[in-house]
Amino acid sequence: MEVAPGLHRLEMPLGNRVLYQHLFIGDRVVVIDTGIRETPETVIFPYLESLGRDPAHIDLVLISHADADHFGGNEAIRRKAPGAWIAAHRLDARWISDPAVIMEERYNQFSATHGMAYPDPVKTFLRNMMGAPVPVDLQLEGGETILVAPDRPLRILHLPGHTRGHIGIYDPVHGSAVLTDSALWKGLPDREGNIVMPPTYCHTETYRTTIRQVMNLELETLCLSHYPLMRGKNDIADFLAETRRFAEQAEETVFSGLKKTGVWKSLKEIITDADPVLGPFGDAKDELAYPLLGHLTELADEGRIERALHDDITHWRYAR
Ligand SMILES: [Zn+2]
Repeated sequence: MEVAPGLHRLEMPLGNRVLYQHLFIGDRVVVIDTGIRETPETVIFPYLESLGRDPAHIDLVLISHADADHFGGNEAIRRKAPGAWIAAHRLDARWISDPAVIMEERYNQFSATHGMAYPDPVKTFLRNMMGAPVPVDLQLEGGETILVAPDRPLRILHLPGHTRGHIGIYDPVHGSAVLTDSALWKGLPDREGNIVMPPTYCHTETYRTTIRQVMNLELETLCLSHYPLMRGKNDIADFLAETRRFAEQAEETVFSGLKKTGVWKSLKEIITDADPVLGPFGDAKDELAYPLLGHLTELADEGRIERALHDDITHWRYAR
């Protein structure tokens, strides 16, 4: 359905959660994210056909960031619309271009020095979300303008935090934006609205800057990939304030936990301590590895905590 002039939003299930797909349609057809492997065939192409637009004529695919559920359908798009450019921020382009690389460098990053690897069935599930490797054709920096029609400029925003190269697409004429996973509230909801996964931001400093940047846009319509459509400045400001509050609370929880005990702790132990305070997130609590490693890295870089390897596992403790 069209949720703002030229901005279309489609809903599909993603396990017990929801994934929203977005398109800007004017003289040109711009697809934002390609979902998982089968999303183009099952969701995107039928929708374009229902509007009388030939999916073979997709002009541009903007991949918001390197995550399996956001670019997994690139192969299907390439097959159907070989002339469509696939674009992404240069900082995420490597991961988006090759599933094997993102499997190792993003999804397996906690294995070597944190002793936390996804179980094999989860790895297989993640790998199967993505099709064959498709190179990113066009690397973005943020700040680019795309004309979807002569009077319809779209601006590319660099919104790092969840990944280093996360981008959002902003329509300044209508005050609407598709920001996918750039702000993740206090967690990701299932279809009933229960929080079932922590907010998986990684780079804490840039995440805070991104939240401020989005607040300053004073949006009327905000489209994210895993949350219901948001309308109106007040609701959007509340969501962003809650997003910022979680990150503040997470940092405080990690820091005060280490300060109180004064002993060396691994990421796994820190997650176990923090989960009841920040969640609890049940089966998904290990996903706290992403944000908490971000906070631990920042705190260590600031000299507020110390970092060392014990038996090949990274540990942190309060810096006296
Ligand atoms: Zn994501």
